[in-house]
Amino acid sequence: MAPIPSTSKTVQISSNGGVEVLDLNDVPIPKLADGQVLVRNEYSGVNFIDTYFRTGLYSSVFPFTLGREAAGEVVAAHDSVKGFSVGTRAVYMANGSYAQYTAVDAAKVVALPDALPSDKAAAAYLQGLTAWTFVREAGQVKAGQWVLVHAAAGGVGLLLVQMLRAVGAKVIGTASTEEKQALARKHGAEWTISSHDDLVSKVKEITGGHGIDVIFDGVGKDTFEADLEMIAVKGSLISFGNASGAVPPLNILRLGSKNIRLMRPVVNHYVASREDLEKYSYELFDLITSGKLEVNIHGVYPLAEVARAHTDLEGRKTSGKLLIKTN
Ligand code: NDP
Repeated sequence: MAPIPSTSKTVQISSNGGVEVLDLNDVPIPKLADGQVLVRNEYSGVNFIDTYFRTGLYSSVFPFTLGREAAGEVVAAHDSVKGFSVGTRAVYMANGSYAQYTAVDAAKVVALPDALPSDKAAAAYLQGLTAWTFVREAGQVKAGQWVLVHAAAGGVGLLLVQMLRAVGAKVIGTASTEEKQALARKHGAEWTISSHDDLVSKVKEITGGHGIDVIFDGVGKDTFEADLEMIAVKGSLISFGNASGAVPPLNILRLGSKNIRLMRPVVNHYVASREDLEKYSYELFDLITSGKLEVNIHGVYPLAEVARAHTDLEGRKTSGKLLIKTN
């Protein structure tokens, strides 16, 4: 194993704004606190949430290191840590992963099976845990249900459509271009609709007037009103993101029109206990290594080019997952 250097190249923000606020700094290697391990990140995943922290939609304390997940190698452990040996290949969801080295609570780190390479692990982890826990727990999707996934060719979207198809749902995907729609169809969306079309009337046509039993919406502001119209009686609306902006406050009386279940889940709360983190992580690893879940990597960007990754993601130029090569 290479010796641990004294500093780590790290992408930080000291103010909110456009991609110009992203700084690549040399920061001292973090000192390990009780219960922490030091991970030499190989690949860090790019997630839409990173842009919310950059722009200030979600608040942070400056200087703030962006990035919420990575796969790499445990290179040091605090004396208090049991069960992780140096050299273990691992993946985690925690703050501060746009860096060569990150100190992470060992409770959040999961060892990787040999069959799962680090790029695939980093590409599938946060978004895969999101998609899988939302299908199982938030949506409680059953075979035969009509399910609609917005941004179906995105990072979370492409994983959702595959998992939903595997569960036996009738999957409709939306996407902005024909190319993205084709990708969503290839991964399990039986029907796709252009996000520029009249979603409500298309859904009526496709479902024969039934509407959608479970909607997964990570787009937010632009699609929420259409969701309330195209949802079926007793349908579940899982609103989980703000790619187009945050959903404005809602008068809950509107839910009574169809007995709509509305939920705004966050993945972390489904994997808050070590037991749940391991259960869902191992289920996700199995889905990938058994070939049931395809992981699509849109591109791998150098650490110095995080700005380009954010620009591409926010500009709707990407499908599947963006990775940062951190080491
Ligand atoms: P994506 O790869 O899905 O990228 C976002 C996609 O949203 C775009 O590709 C685009 O697809 C679509 N989109 C629609 N309107 C806009 C707009 N105005 N600006 C930009 N994109 C737009 O990102 P992720 O997979 O990383 O995340 C998807 C969503 O899931 C995000 O909202 C994210 O915050 C959320 N999320 C929530 C989690 C949670 O725990 N609640 C966990 C993980 C992700 P198209 O061009 O086809 O319209």
